[in-house]
Amino acid sequence: MSAHILLVEDEVKLARFIELELTSEGYRISIAHDGMTGLTLARESAPELVILDWMLPGMTGVEICRRLRATGIKVPVILLTAKDEVGDRVAGLDAGADDYVVKPFSIEELLARVRAHLRRTQEVDQDVLQFDDLSLNRLTREVFRGQRAIDLTAKEFDLLEYLLSHPRQVYTRDQILENVWGYDFIGDSNIIEVYVRYLRLKLEEKGEKRLIQTIRGVGYVLRD
Ligand code: CA
Repeated sequence: MSAHILLVEDEVKLARFIELELTSEGYRISIAHDGMTGLTLARESAPELVILDWMLPGMTGVEICRRLRATGIKVPVILLTAKDEVGDRVAGLDAGADDYVVKPFSIEELLARVRAHLRRTQEVDQDVLQFDDLSLNRLTREVFRGQRAIDLTAKEFDLLEYLLSHPRQVYTRDQILENVWGYDFIGDSNIIEVYVRYLRLKLEEKGEKRLIQTIRGVGYVLRD
């Protein structure tokens, strides 16, 4: 499946140009032209890579990056900086950006950085998902809480795998239904509550702290 990239750039023509190039490389692109929209999309649309312009109306790219990292979102971030901001690049890296590209840049350079960062995440995005003392192996389908092995049914496993794929990211009930049960699922959406209850019983059997949290009126998130 093609990677989903979020581009936050207020220069509309430049944004359009980058969008066309990335699209022709086969990526799926979302665009925001201001900081707040960018932050919201970065949090809610689960992009696999984010390209942030530094200077944006509303909120700088660096601030967006800082806020994403503060909530545990680890998506790779490439900052676009104007030449005279290069001196500040340390601030960008401190805020948790993975890379920066100086404007004006060649599109080939940007594409190369995008490929490199996506490759790296795919390598890290390996077979074992982990959060806190919870780990899940996609190949062996084993789940552990610390040293304790946990037996899950196929659906419980799928649900946990989905929540573990992005810890601290809130998933809506619709997202969970579509991704775990499938787009064509027809039935009672209370099925999610039922399975979350099963999972919690198994994950907290020895009095372990709760990791699957309910976000009332929205959905679920894996966090402390
Ligand atoms: Ca700008």
